[in-house]
Amino acid sequence: MTDKDPKSEGKIKEPKASGKTEPQAVANAKPAREKYKYDGKTPPLNIFLHWCKACNLCIAFCPTKVLEPDRDGKPVIAHPELCTQCEICWVHCPDFAITSTFK
Ligand code: SF4
Ligand code: SF4
Repeated sequence: MTDKDPKSEGKIKEPKASGKTEPQAVANAKPAREKYKYDGKTPPLNIFLHWCKACNLCIAFCPTKVLEPDRDGKPVIAHPELCTQCEICWVHCPDFAITSTFK
């Protein structure tokens, strides 16, 4: 048996300095991000058409078919109410021509 303090060996855990209990931590947690819902005014995406090369990747990958090509093959937001902000279109755009209005 040694005279060492067991706290210094990490055998005894000190309570956290904040003194928060688990229910308090849960109560203070940030609320989950609200789900996007089209309000009839603000479009879900910004499309920079002067950067777009009309490759149509965004149109092909959109799972809810929000985008349709215009007569130049560039995307237009045909069905904004269907957008779920899933990120697929702007993540796959090779020319960074799409951003979200909300993220
Ligand atoms: S964020 Fe998703 S659902 Fe909305 S337009 Fe882009 S690919 Fe489609
Ligand atoms: S993925 Fe980008 S470059 Fe291709 S059509 Fe869509 S916006 Fe244009």
